[in-house]
Amino acid sequence: MATTNLRADMREKSDRSSRDDRGMDKDGDDRGRKGGFHRKKVCRFCSDQDFILDYKDIRMMQSFVTEHGKIVPRRISGSCALHQRQLTTAVKRARNLALVGYVSMGV
Ligand SMILES: [Zn+2]
Repeated sequence: MATTNLRADMREKSDRSSRDDRGMDKDGDDRGRKGGFHRKKVCRFCSDQDFILDYKDIRMMQSFVTEHGKIVPRRISGSCALHQRQLTTAVKRARNLALVGYVSMGV
């Protein structure tokens, strides 16, 4: 009897923890934590399969371009070499279509 009770207890606990995890996932991205100093840099394209690199997606493109129209360097964006290369071509394509500016503000 005692052992079965223990098992049931453990199951309940694990269920709860899994629910908590789901809640965490819903709440936000990696940036959800406070104190941006020690933020872990992971390639967004590698970590998130749904995050597709598309030069027609202006919002996404602009998140990888500075306000001056520069492509955000790898050491800041944290993307891996492969995806950074794909990103640069994508940004250049977007520029060609005038989705992203070469220079956003007149210098
Ligand atoms: Zn990657």
